Amino acid sequence: MYDILVIGGGVNGCGIARDAAGRGYSVLLAEMNDLASGTSSWSTKLIHGGLRYLEHYEFRLVREALIEREVLWRNAPHIIWPMRFVLPHAQGLRPAWLIRLGLFLYDNLGGRRLLPPTGTLDMRSDPAGLPLKPGFAKAFEYSDCWVDDARLVVLNARDAADRGAEILTRTKVVRAVRDGDHWRVTLRDTISGETRDITARLIVNAAGPWVDRVIADALNVPEKHHVRLVQGSHIVVRRKFSDPRAYFFQNRDGRIIFAIPYETDFTLIGTTDRDYTGEPGSAAISQEETDYLCAAASEYFREPVRRGDIVWTYSGVRPLYDDGASKAQEATRDYVLKSEGGPGQAPLVNIFGGKITTYRRLAESMLQKIEALIGRKGSAWTATAPLPGGDFPVEGFDKEADRLLRDYPFLASNGARRLSRLYGTRALSFLGNANDAADLGQVFGHGLTEAEVRYLMDQEWALTAEDVLWRRTKLGLHLEERQVAALEYFIRTTAKRYRPAAE
Ligand SMILES: Cc1cc2nc3c(=O)[nH]c(=O)nc-3n(C[C@H](O)[C@H](O)[C@H](O)COP(=O)(O)OP(=O)(O)OC[C@H]3O[C@@H](n4cnc5c(N)ncnc54)[C@H](O)[C@@H]3O)c2cc1C
Repeated sequence: MYDILVIGGGVNGCGIARDAAGRGYSVLLAEMNDLASGTSSWSTKLIHGGLRYLEHYEFRLVREALIEREVLWRNAPHIIWPMRFVLPHAQGLRPAWLIRLGLFLYDNLGGRRLLPPTGTLDMRSDPAGLPLKPGFAKAFEYSDCWVDDARLVVLNARDAADRGAEILTRTKVVRAVRDGDHWRVTLRDTISGETRDITARLIVNAAGPWVDRVIADALNVPEKHHVRLVQGSHIVVRRKFSDPRAYFFQNRDGRIIFAIPYETDFTLIGTTDRDYTGEPGSAAISQEETDYLCAAASEYFREPVRRGDIVWTYSGVRPLYDDGASKAQEATRDYVLKSEGGPGQAPLVNIFGGKITTYRRLAESMLQKIEALIGRKGSAWTATAPLPGGDFPVEGFDKEADRLLRDYPFLASNGARRLSRLYGTRALSFLGNANDAADLGQVFGHGLTEAEVRYLMDQEWALTAEDVLWRRTKLGLHLEERQVAALEYFIRTTAKRYRPAAE
């Protein structure tokens, strides 16, 4: 009998599993695909207060998110880092006084100790003006943070497992029925098709955009529709500018988009906001969204963004709490936790909404509910606990990468930085005693070695080349087809689980 079954291995499910395991609850987390294969790897990848949400008076959410920026950066300085955003003032759109007021609140609502404050830029002399059309004379510059979203999820899962949680990927919760004060749950291995039954005292439904489906199909409890699915798409183009700062562009329709330096050689542009009714896992960018993003970015860049520049796109579905807002972009980004079940009945807590940025606070709120429902164990602990590999000073990334390069000179500077970014201090666990590149085994390309892939399979639940190339890393942007095929073959012939019977 587990204390808690968590349905869903996105940022919220993994964050809750980690917090709960660290407090001493016995936890099972079931994810039907790969960790972070849902919304949590399709985000804009910002740990941000959400400047735009101030226009919708979401002060509680913005304050919580602003404070969380530095908390998360401290706990994971390998995968999270500060970023400056340049917001050009555009004639006929939001007036300068309004932007200045918003940024004043942003700087002062709370939690900013290390991140530098807002500034004003003369775009005729500042390098940030170079890639833009000449009409933008003035801009504001403010701080937020960047995060590798998929790695944030897997590091939470890793830490949860290190603290005793059981993490099952490719495992779908297909049915859960109440048996007095506990749940009887059927799990299905989505690759072999085998099923098994477990029992749990409480269920957390962290299925993101699938939350209502889990309620209706697996749990069969009388809950009404709460989630509003809002699609958001991004395009990735070859690097449009060399400045390390990102851009925040206002559009004529009142929306905004970001253009962000991405994976060294690229620029990430997004996002869109439109209601969605299909299967959440099948969301794909439409022609209309592609045109919208190209046109919106081309309003600002000297060199227009064309369809032909696009090297990759992705699309995800926000599981927003349905607050009845008329436009998708106005629906609240705050989260709501709703418990279900009367006295003596096994409890269920559903999650609606939320941001990557606020996942840790959401987990703490969830733990308060859990304590009230099944009894208290340990107290809150995650605010000051580094995530795996993040146990170095908050501003110490460069030193950490230099140290790795000193200890493993054969990695070369790019390689050491790449590994420090992904794994922080945990890179040592697979670099071990290696004296030269040959000690790391087969090389798949762009610095990806057998030692790294084995680590991802043993410690991070990677089971396919896609898991490795698009979620544990973003090397999918760099590897050629034949290199992907070699990786695919290596994983297929090495994996302990899911090796096809014929081989
Ligand atoms: C375009 C876009 C941009 C965004 N940008 C940002 C941003 O910059 N910053 C920010 O803070 N937030 C951002 N967000 C919001 C953020 O990404 C989401 O709020 C967050 O990822 C939701 O996480 P989750 O864990 O609730 O859901 P998910 O990540 O979707 O996880 C739910 C998981 O449940 C699993 N599941 C479903 N049903 C079952 C079942 N029956 N059994 C087992 N598993 C199941 C799914 O496979 C899935 O992996 C953005 C979202 C989008 C779409």
